[in-house]
Amino acid sequence: MPLPRQHPDVRYLDRMKQRNPRKLWNRKCQKCFTEIFSSFHPEKNAQVYCQGCYQKVLYSVP
Ligand SMILES: [Zn+2]
Repeated sequence: MPLPRQHPDVRYLDRMKQRNPRKLWNRKCQKCFTEIFSSFHPEKNAQVYCQGCYQKVLYSVP
């Protein structure tokens, strides 16, 4: 394995550049349609809930 040619801090910053941008999208909760901010892009079909609904989903007994 070749030795890294760059300083660890530089390599760390390069790695951070490849991550998702820290951008928040204006989304709506899928349950109560409250306006929320989510790091999930709207075009990704991820389900987003507001904090209250998320807690209910987490702790609701099926
Ligand atoms: Zn909600």
